[in-house]
Amino acid sequence: MRVALVTVGDELLSGDTVNTNAAWLGERLADRGVTIERTTVVPDRVGDIARVVNEYRADYDAVIVTGGLGPTHDDVTMAGVAAAFGRELVRSEAVLEWLESEGGYAREDLTEGTAHIPEGADPLHNEAGVAPGCVLDSVYVLPGVPDEMKAMFEGIADRFEGTRRYTETVAVDEPESAMLDRLRDLREEFGVKVGSYPGETVRIKVEGTDESVVADAAAWLRERVEAPEE
Ligand code: ATP
Ligand code: MG
Repeated sequence: MRVALVTVGDELLSGDTVNTNAAWLGERLADRGVTIERTTVVPDRVGDIARVVNEYRADYDAVIVTGGLGPTHDDVTMAGVAAAFGRELVRSEAVLEWLESEGGYAREDLTEGTAHIPEGADPLHNEAGVAPGCVLDSVYVLPGVPDEMKAMFEGIADRFEGTRRYTETVAVDEPESAMLDRLRDLREEFGVKVGSYPGETVRIKVEGTDESVVADAAAWLRERVEAPEE
């Protein structure tokens, strides 16, 4: 399964907020064997959201959108998703009933717009906050607040499935450029994907669909490189 992620918010673009939602979802989806093929950050603007959601829903198995829910003036994600589908935003009776029965809110206390989702969308209830998310075809709309996003994602995680991939990381105390031949041999011998991530040491990430092949490949490499001192 191939997924595209759209994270919405001016504060992500300006650097005021670090995009931890993208990192968390990337890891959770990778655990499930799902690949994120795109992560895009867009401003709180209806047209930008609509355009990228439309592009991605044509190209990927699913699109996850986070951020910009709720009734404040800069929360326009639902309007953007509705525009992508050419639908209206409508007040969801199911959301209102859930907020009353489970959330403990009185209808009249909820800010106008709180329960609006695109026409025909299925609501996703917010166990950790107020603003609902929704699902419309292959597009999943989740909150921006990390705890709310995580709780809502866990409720739909089983809809995201792919081939389980296994990884092992080998730390190496050699320059990347010295390892090119060994990394090529590693790929060719074992048929694994190899990533090289330099930092204080170089981390070589070995990835594949067969756990024992990945383990063998990592062991093969460990025997042939300079390990960092403990
Ligand atoms: P609410 O319904 O509570 O208004 P929301 O879905 O509208 O939530 P936003 O208004 O976009 O979410 O953001 C709420 C908070 O979550 C902000 O503090 C924002 O910085 C943070 N946030 C939003 N997106 C992300 C992200 N991708 N990674 C980390 N934090 C985020
Ligand atoms: Mg908000």
